[in-house]
Amino acid sequence: MLEKVHSPDYLRTLVQSWRKEGYSVALVPTMGALHEGHLELVRLAARHADKVIVSIFVNPAQFAAHEDFGTYPRTLEDDIAKLRYEPAHAVYAPDAGTMYPEGFDCTLIPGGPARELESVARPHFFAGVALVVTKLFMQTGADFAVFGEKDYQQLKVVEQLVRDLDIPIQIIPAPVFREPDGLARSSRNVYLSEMDRKHAPGLYTVLQQLSREIAGGRPPLEALSHGMELLQSTGFEVDYLEMRHAETLIPLPLYNAPARLLVAARLGATRLIDNIAVAEG
Ligand code: AMP
Repeated sequence: MLEKVHSPDYLRTLVQSWRKEGYSVALVPTMGALHEGHLELVRLAARHADKVIVSIFVNPAQFAAHEDFGTYPRTLEDDIAKLRYEPAHAVYAPDAGTMYPEGFDCTLIPGGPARELESVARPHFFAGVALVVTKLFMQTGADFAVFGEKDYQQLKVVEQLVRDLDIPIQIIPAPVFREPDGLARSSRNVYLSEMDRKHAPGLYTVLQQLSREIAGGRPPLEALSHGMELLQSTGFEVDYLEMRHAETLIPLPLYNAPARLLVAARLGATRLIDNIAVAEG
């Protein structure tokens, strides 16, 4: 049975009742508008724990004033309908006033992998993410939390946050779930115009090509500057295209450690992000 939960108190009671039965608990934090990529996270969570909580909360703390907080798709009833067919046991959908009540005044500023990349265009983003995931971890007391590699920098920020604050939760990464043409699934893909949707898979095609080239010995800086030209020639406005250490996300000028390529680029008004491991194949 899928329980709908709005209050942290009821959530705690529910989790306590599970604990009494000896069940382990996994959390899948989302902002809703659930697609197949999110559902894959739910299925992965259920392979690790007996009970799965899916949180749905469009977190105001991680949006800047000019971003799409007001228009971000909110489809709670549809989301719940989708989860009924999945191994999910509770949907936790608090409102903003519950998460950030009158007088709330706390800031968490993650460093390390939170520096640069997404933080250049979105300076407050990871502070907002760190705050909300810490609250969700405390409220659920979950043993596991699943995060998608789609948001690779976010995954690394959360892993470090859990280490730095000694939060007793294990972070489980989930691979990027893609459309058949390679475009990473995202709730924001609905913003793409028909023409931009046709061009969007080019982002992943270029990442795949760069990954092979760099793994095959092409100097990374040369490969990346060629990749940048390829993206620009197909209409992308590139915020960044970089190779970073796969764990620390520090810049990696040479391919001499586990590496990840990360990109953010705009097509029209839609900003897409993607990433890939540097590997042959
Ligand atoms: P969001 O609702 O966009 O905040 O995403 C919630 C979680 O789902 C995050 O951990 C995302 O990384 C993950 N996620 C979203 N889209 C995908 C995807 N296409 N593949 C894998 N994970 C995803």
